[in-house]
Amino acid sequence: MLIQDLVRRPLDPLAVRKLCDDHMPTDWLEWDREALQIFFVRRGVAVPELFLDQVEAVQTVLLTEYPWNAFQAFLPVVQAFTGIRPNFSYLDEPRIAQVAVAVEEMTLLSSDGREYSTEVVAFIAALAKNQGVVYLPPPLDFAQWLVTPGYYRCSSCGHEDIVDDGDDGLCDVCSQRFNKPKAFDFKPSDIGLVRASLGVGSNLTYFMKADPVSIHQDVERILRGELDEGDLTGYTKELVSQSLLIVEAVEEASKIRKDDLDDVATATW
Ligand SMILES: [Zn+2]
Repeated sequence: MLIQDLVRRPLDPLAVRKLCDDHMPTDWLEWDREALQIFFVRRGVAVPELFLDQVEAVQTVLLTEYPWNAFQAFLPVVQAFTGIRPNFSYLDEPRIAQVAVAVEEMTLLSSDGREYSTEVVAFIAALAKNQGVVYLPPPLDFAQWLVTPGYYRCSSCGHEDIVDDGDDGLCDVCSQRFNKPKAFDFKPSDIGLVRASLGVGSNLTYFMKADPVSIHQDVERILRGELDEGDLTGYTKELVSQSLLIVEAVEEASKIRKDDLDDVATATW
């Protein structure tokens, strides 16, 4: 296949990397957008903007840790890696399955076990919640803890609530966390602290309410062929299919990656 035909379609990021490794000078990772463009034009190849976006995203992932640390860097990488032009003007919400594919590609490219910052994990969890996904299968399982938060029950007042305060071990009611000025700093009031030192509102029992375990088990059973998705009903069916979309997108991306790498291996100018 000719390189000019290859670059016209969105490519898997590993294929983008191979194409550049195989056909460009070794320092291509350090090139800016204009230099990349000139290189291809001189060889008679008009490169679409999306291809340049993809090369820049690969460079960013290989040379920096920004996409693991800041959602502003993570988002354009997700878009470029899933064949969509990054939009820096407004937040173009990606589907959670797209995020899963991009996270898989980032892991394959970097292969050094980097971890995502709490900011990026929270961004992924927010997308999942907004899209009604309660169970995040691999490779997004690291964000599960923020998707289904734990609950507590206070032995002093019986209050039940979500653990949304960074878990300082104090009941929202007894500690007067929100019944005071500057409530959104999530800190207990002075009186609440005195009470807590006396043991009021500091004896909490933790439990899960929106438990993803049953959804997780259904997804696993469907993947093992022990359960038919069609046998599920109602809300469970909806939640299971949302999680299955993630698994299927990652599998599909893996097939495309193999085809793209095969095409790049035989590509010529
Ligand atoms: Zn309490």
